[in-house]
Amino acid sequence: MNKLENIRNVKRRVLIVDDEIINREILGNILSADYDVSFAEDGIAAMEALEEEGSIYSLVLLDLLMPKMDGFEVIEKIRAHEVLKNIPVIVMTSEKDAEVKSIKLGAADFITKPYDYPEVILARCERIIELSENKNVIKYAATDTLTGLYTKDFFFEYIRQAELFNKEAARDAVVLNITRFHLVNELYGREEGDNVLRFITGIILDITEKNSGFACRSEADTFCLYLSHLDDYDDFLSFIKKRMRDIPHASSIRIRIGVYQNVDKDINPHTWFDRARTVCDILKNDYTKQIAFYNNNLYEQSIFNECLINDMQQAIDKKQFVVYYQPKYGIQNGRYELKSAEALIRWENPQYGLISPGLFIPLFEQNGLIQKLDSFVWEEAASQMEKWREKYAIDFPISVNVSRVDIFYPEFFNNLKNIIESHQIDPKNFMLEVTESAYVDNVEELVEIIEKLRDMGFRIEMDDFGSGYSSLNMITSLPFDVLKMDMKFIRNMQKDEKSMRLVEIVMDIVKFLGVPVIAEGVEEEEQVNILKKLGCDLIQGYYFSKPLPPDEFEKLIEKELEERKNI
Ligand code: C2E
Ligand code: CA
Ligand code: CA
Repeated sequence: MNKLENIRNVKRRVLIVDDEIINREILGNILSADYDVSFAEDGIAAMEALEEEGSIYSLVLLDLLMPKMDGFEVIEKIRAHEVLKNIPVIVMTSEKDAEVKSIKLGAADFITKPYDYPEVILARCERIIELSENKNVIKYAATDTLTGLYTKDFFFEYIRQAELFNKEAARDAVVLNITRFHLVNELYGREEGDNVLRFITGIILDITEKNSGFACRSEADTFCLYLSHLDDYDDFLSFIKKRMRDIPHASSIRIRIGVYQNVDKDINPHTWFDRARTVCDILKNDYTKQIAFYNNNLYEQSIFNECLINDMQQAIDKKQFVVYYQPKYGIQNGRYELKSAEALIRWENPQYGLISPGLFIPLFEQNGLIQKLDSFVWEEAASQMEKWREKYAIDFPISVNVSRVDIFYPEFFNNLKNIIESHQIDPKNFMLEVTESAYVDNVEELVEIIEKLRDMGFRIEMDDFGSGYSSLNMITSLPFDVLKMDMKFIRNMQKDEKSMRLVEIVMDIVKFLGVPVIAEGVEEEEQVNILKKLGCDLIQGYYFSKPLPPDEFEKLIEKELEERKNI
């Protein structure tokens, strides 16, 4: 089933190069019924025409003796040209010597002058074009042995040829990937994995059939589809979803699809599929969506993300990461007491300016870079504590964020231990903030790790409490020393009765558990007053201060020390 057959009927483009007008006319008359014919009157004009329109020509008929640039030179130029080199050339000559020379240079055939019968010329042209098209296709192993789909090289060659004759048609590039396919292999064995791939191939073939397209398997679990343009992919997606229900091990398999609609025909087909793949990859961690469409914003976003990931190590070396400190104030003892601070990372990026951790932390959590970054922050915070001890003779407690990814890193405990020991820090002053959602994901393992950290002397703050999904029941059995109420509660507290009740309930639970509570994201005096009444112990938020670089934070310490003297 060679779909190239579909494009067999399209008129091929032929360039006739001859300095004598009479020859151009004779050949033009012979060929124009079957071919789309263009003319050039010398070698220079021929090269110009070829270079301008590139590979759309299927054949060049070339006179050898011409002024300015002769036929031999034209052949050499074509053969040396990256794009044009595969266009076959038939030379037209009356000299036997010239035939041999031109064939040696790479001409495909020759036609003698004066001209043969028109049928002979036509037959030669047709044969050479066919040979060359088949040669280009045969160069690549046509199909993938496992699925019977085209191989990647063949697929792109096929696109190239299809585009030569059908450039106007609107088309879409689609990349389909199986998320964590290796798990299927690991869980059920390779043979079952192969079965799944064959099953998906069946679905893909139905799709390409329906949408006059073709497809290849480009990597183990990735398929590329080149389809007639669809405005709307709803039916496409529901078709796949429906067919996927019958797939072996359906519940372990998730397919994600990236689509680049209406591909730009002026750019390289490989780029079409790179774009589709990029949006497909964006879905890797988004379980709510199965299909995504390329657009500039999304693309720029992913390029931006790539830059951040690539630049991270260098940024550490160049000291572009800086640690800011946001104060936490005690509010229950008659005055606002500066108790501690949270270390928050900032990236002073020379290209993008100050980048918020909300942008890069989730990226670094996906690829293990977070461990490096967090270690850096812990080390910075510890050395800052040491500096403040020397300067102010106090042990000023600092909390650092611990990503849920850090916790499972084998060096985690040693790393923390080394950091506090090398700066002679009492672990009880080095608090670890762990988000509530980390507890939810792996309860038992996490509880064990947290217990171990507490045994080592660290205190644990459960961060963002209320944003995760831990049940009330669970919260009573989880180990932690301080609870940080999620900002959302504070945001909504004054909005309605119900949200207010929620804050009261959280406060009740915390009282029951006997741990202190921190309210985060407090921006207004009114909020401070409400929280104070409810018995909240500590407050962190813009009401007191934004996160500050160390030298500015020192002013807060100095003010606090001043106040303590006056008590
Ligand atoms: P988080 O741990 O919940 O940190 C609190 C965030 O709330 C900080 O944002 C802080 O600047 C912001 N914030 C504090 N008070 C207010 C307020 O009154 N109003 C508003 N609108 N925001 C307030 P930031 O610094 O952008 O950090 C965002 C998140 O990035 C942090 O959330 C934390 O999850 C993560 N992060 C920051 N630094 C680190 C780090 O060194 N390591 C790791 N693993 N995560 C970090
Ligand atoms: Ca935090
Ligand atoms: Ca928080």
